[in-house]
Amino acid sequence: MATKRLFYKDSFLKTFQAKVEECRQSKKGYEIRLDQTVFYPEGGGQPCDMGTLDQVRVMDVQEKDGDIWHSTKEPIEVGTCVTGEIDWERRLDLMQQHSGEHIVSGMIHERYGYDNIGFHMGEETITVDFDGEIPEEELKEIELEANRYVWENHPLDISWPTEEELAVLPYRSKKELSGDVRIVTWPGADICACCGVHVQHSGEVGQIMLISSQRAKGGVRIEMLCGGRALTYSNRVKEQNREISEMLSAKWNQTAAAVKKLQEEYQKIKFQMVGLELQKIADMVKEKAGQGDQILFVDMTPDGARKLATDVMETCGGICAVFCGDEKSGYRYVIGEKDGDLRGFVKEMNQRLNGRGGGKPFFVQGSVQASEEEIRAFFQEKRG
Ligand SMILES: [Zn+2]
Repeated sequence: MATKRLFYKDSFLKTFQAKVEECRQSKKGYEIRLDQTVFYPEGGGQPCDMGTLDQVRVMDVQEKDGDIWHSTKEPIEVGTCVTGEIDWERRLDLMQQHSGEHIVSGMIHERYGYDNIGFHMGEETITVDFDGEIPEEELKEIELEANRYVWENHPLDISWPTEEELAVLPYRSKKELSGDVRIVTWPGADICACCGVHVQHSGEVGQIMLISSQRAKGGVRIEMLCGGRALTYSNRVKEQNREISEMLSAKWNQTAAAVKKLQEEYQKIKFQMVGLELQKIADMVKEKAGQGDQILFVDMTPDGARKLATDVMETCGGICAVFCGDEKSGYRYVIGEKDGDLRGFVKEMNQRLNGRGGGKPFFVQGSVQASEEEIRAFFQEKRG
């Protein structure tokens, strides 16, 4: 006889007594079949329950040919009467997410006629895919409507309609169904063929939070959280906001405005920095005009260093080598010589000073791992 599914009789059962009917070896340990169980096997997008049979840990639960198999590390003798207990926190969490998804999918189906075409229940969040787009503002309305449904605490209804009744029932389903169909109804919100486990009243979902939505596969992918997960999420967001609020001395509801102000100030300073750098470059160009070879150690942006080398080499009458950095992390270099050919020089420099880089014959860029003294000594030796 197939395993009796106590989770369908009462989804709030946490413990039960059962008789071990079969215990067989598997790849990872053992698989145990009982006469009855509250362990929900993985199926319909809902992960399985975990827990214990007496002291033995149940790691996985799968349905095979109508029977339910509990995976364990240790065997349990056939005929033993065991006390089973499921990991209730995990089960309640999964039922909250799953039931909340029904309510939201049902409401979206009613409003737009869209179908739920993909459902993933992950460790962190749940994603639901619909085959049509939903504007952001309307998602807010749906979220409010779904939460109102939670507050109203509607009871769940489960039925097995006859084929005739089923033919006229406007239920959601992922595939054509035949035979016994289990219909899960959240009155006024959703009618759906489903073999999963659910909370018994909408109030037990706790809260429904739509976190994000993005276009996917010609429709929309909604990320949502219910119950305890919604609380955990809002606590994390609250903590982030508290930290930002403290750092910027802004009220909790004015952190975005404070960050915007900071960004504007940063842009202004960056702009001023560019101006100062250009001024410095212009001054150096004037100072170095006609002075021959130049080795300049400066603290500049990469753009600034390139401009300095380009401008100085035009007028100094020799090569202009610009180095930025320090001995520890190395120096970036830009070297230019008007109408010159630096290829041989730079190749030797890279070899001697652990460097790399290259470019055009008259303009090269790269980096070296050497001290300022070593760099200056190399130039002294080669260029006098
Ligand atoms: Zn369901």
